[in-house]
Amino acid sequence: MRCLHCGTAAGKMRPDELTTEEALNLIDEMAELGTVGIILSGGEPLLRRDWRKMTERITQNNIKVGIITNGYAVTKEVVDDFERLGMSTVGVSFDGTEKTHNYIRQRDDSWSRALNAMRLMTENGNVRYEAVTQVSNINFGELDQIRDQLIDVGCPMWRIQMTTSTGRMNENRDLVLSFDNFPRLVDQCLEYKEDTRINFDVGENIGYYGCKGQELWNDRRYLGCFAGTRVLGIESNGDIKGCLSMPEEFVEGNIRDSSLTEIWNNPDGFAYNRKFTRDLAEGECHDCKYLPLCRGGCTVTSYSATGCRANNPYCIYRLEKAQGIECEDSPVITEMLEPFKEAMADVYEKA
Ligand code: SF4
Ligand code: SF4
Repeated sequence: MRCLHCGTAAGKMRPDELTTEEALNLIDEMAELGTVGIILSGGEPLLRRDWRKMTERITQNNIKVGIITNGYAVTKEVVDDFERLGMSTVGVSFDGTEKTHNYIRQRDDSWSRALNAMRLMTENGNVRYEAVTQVSNINFGELDQIRDQLIDVGCPMWRIQMTTSTGRMNENRDLVLSFDNFPRLVDQCLEYKEDTRINFDVGENIGYYGCKGQELWNDRRYLGCFAGTRVLGIESNGDIKGCLSMPEEFVEGNIRDSSLTEIWNNPDGFAYNRKFTRDLAEGECHDCKYLPLCRGGCTVTSYSATGCRANNPYCIYRLEKAQGIECEDSPVITEMLEPFKEAMADVYEKA
């Protein structure tokens, strides 16, 4: 496939992909580093002939394993292997009605294959799976139809996230969700959360605080982007980033030059999160009382929209504030903000 929204602009196999041996050694090293979960993603991870070996090695190391697939290569045998190998969750990309999904993925039978993958997992009954939808201006108007289709196929869980202008989408920036559509998307998400026919959640780039942000996140403690602090992304060629969605300039090293352990333990590494200070924020985020918790939300979303790690225009709180709407913080959020009040005194004084 050649998905228009692909954050990594995936296409042909890289000539320097990690070998099976390198991948298996890396899994062992991750176990030594204390890794608790690994998601096999892509591109399309099922195109690697050794995905079963990798999955086995991950579970042998007592690490949870999941996979995100476009569903194209999922047959009954593959579903049985998901079950046998202990795949803890399977995410299937599902982006619209047949015409739209096939257009986004640049392949005519991609919609029917993705739907078939979900149907097979529903029939199996023992493989936990969810549908993942990337929302852009292309499919924004089809969300109700997507939900209905997923309910029809028996999908238990639907997660949506917003497409950012990274990778191939950088050439299609006009297709990224418009600022007009963003608040509408939030309202729709709140509606979907109430739908008892399918579980629903949002990805890390739809939030964060404010009236509707609190409602959307159910008072969970949203503590910003974990790239390089609790998570990392490994490219198929061994490049290491804080998160796989990040563009090239966030590469911290390659495991063929330094070990993963050395890269992870580099005291200067992943500075945009590990050494985050208010100076790294710009615009509204710089003077936002939630900055110490939120750090501008999803790094990729902010960076791709404004070129700054923490100046995120896709923020519910920011939009509500511009309209003069402010809500009381919940007791949980009030308590979390308390230690930062002194450092953010200028912001509180203005408020
Ligand atoms: S304005 Fe920035 S720091 Fe404040 S909540 Fe929104 S994204 Fe987070
Ligand atoms: S940049 Fe951070 S918040 Fe955004 S998807 Fe990656 S890890 Fe999650």
